[in-house]
Amino acid sequence: MHEMGIVLQIIDVAKSSIPENMKNIPVEKVHIQIGKLSAVVPDSLNFCFDIAVKDTPLEGASLAIKEVPVTLKCSNCGKSWTIDTPVFKCQKCKSTNIEILSGRELDIISIEMAQDP
Ligand SMILES: [Zn+2]
Repeated sequence: MHEMGIVLQIIDVAKSSIPENMKNIPVEKVHIQIGKLSAVVPDSLNFCFDIAVKDTPLEGASLAIKEVPVTLKCSNCGKSWTIDTPVFKCQKCKSTNIEILSGRELDIISIEMAQDP
């Protein structure tokens, strides 16, 4: 499954970004953002994450997913706009000479650790 590979990467990056002196503190949430063009289904991602964190330092953590809209920019007239469905044509001048500014990302934004006891 496509999502499982992504989840394993997220867990890897999350694990390596936890500072050495915080390794014993449980992770509560991993905040990620995914672009609507990244072809990732948030539900599947959550499902895979729950399975994949077992027996890792992230066990018990949950995934908080923020979806980023697709932002396009016309190379002809400079107009930029966001879309939900891919229509790659400028809304203003109808040019098809456009750039994708956002919508493909898959990033870890932050990691929430449990409060100190
Ligand atoms: Zn244009």
